[in-house]
Amino acid sequence: MPDSRDDATALRPETVAVVAGRPAHASDAPMNVPVHLTSTYVAGGEVAYGRYGNPSWTAFEDVLGALEGGRCVSFASGMAAISAVLDLVGPGGLVVAPRHSYTGTVALLEERAAQGRLQVRFVDIADTAAVAAACAGAELVWFETPTNPALELADIAAISAAAHEHGALVAVDNTFATPLLQRPLELGADLVVHSATKYLSGHSDVVMGAAIASSDEHAAALVQRRSMAGAIPAPLEAFLALRGMRTLSVRLDRAQANAQELVRRLDGHAALEEVRYPGFGAIVSIVVRGGAAPADELAARTRLWVHATSLGGVESTLERRRRWPAEQPTIPEGLVRLSVGIEQVDDLWHDLGGALDSIA
Ligand code: PLP
Repeated sequence: MPDSRDDATALRPETVAVVAGRPAHASDAPMNVPVHLTSTYVAGGEVAYGRYGNPSWTAFEDVLGALEGGRCVSFASGMAAISAVLDLVGPGGLVVAPRHSYTGTVALLEERAAQGRLQVRFVDIADTAAVAAACAGAELVWFETPTNPALELADIAAISAAAHEHGALVAVDNTFATPLLQRPLELGADLVVHSATKYLSGHSDVVMGAAIASSDEHAAALVQRRSMAGAIPAPLEAFLALRGMRTLSVRLDRAQANAQELVRRLDGHAALEEVRYPGFGAIVSIVVRGGAAPADELAARTRLWVHATSLGGVESTLERRRRWPAEQPTIPEGLVRLSVGIEQVDDLWHDLGGALDSIA
């Protein structure tokens, strides 16, 4: 096959995830771009130095860029990618963001607002009319959908249209959905970010992030931020994250099917006040009756499900989000976020259902 970058757009996303970003087919070419461990390059070429580029990043970026439909810039972590996108906002510029977002993102916005570097207006992202009204005067409309951990959904197309009417950029954190379930750039967003730590790498062994821009201008600005601020991914992490993306579609299919079956079995359980599931993906939030104490008890009683933060790995994890003091007070004390993995679903249910029965 010729350079997969040329024909990847004609292929379905599941195929793109497998074939893009590989060396051109030639006798004895390696199947994968090797891990390039080098801090510098022989002068006279385009890369020059290890903070400016690395072939292992480029392979990862080619795949994720093709999947999201834009130009991908990889970063050291999801937070590094988010920081770089916030750097696109001018001094004192207004950012609209969901009240319920990943705690790190809210903390970063609040820190920058306290420093006077930007202003932030928090909204209920599921209330499209309110978000549209809040876009007046904004430079950037930032959101996750589904939100972490409330699992609210935002209307990406309607919010993008409203933001653009006011001249604001739109950035979407697509970590929970992945480009296999949702492609924000096709719906009008200008930028996408990922914690590649989660589903993209998928094995709980990598911390990495990425931002994808629909325009060359924004991609160049993000590369500039990465080169100047230095939040670069390690070559091995980029290799591992790309290896994870090769199996994203089968992992996600299995995890989503497991999540849907578990939601069916969880619904109406006596220990639960609520089961939240946006209808796709593999994150489920359950609200345990009685608040923090029984929810902590649940997390302590499972054996297969690991009590741990983070999400999107092959292994199922659960966590009471309010155990973090930075989590929003509007998130119920008893909310436990489930990251459903790819284990056999009856085994998952036996463990989780048993722990729930024991606290009911
Ligand atoms: N965005 C979302 C939705 C997340 O859940 C997280 C981390 O949990 C991040 C961004 C931050 O990513 P990282 O931990 O890779 O910096």
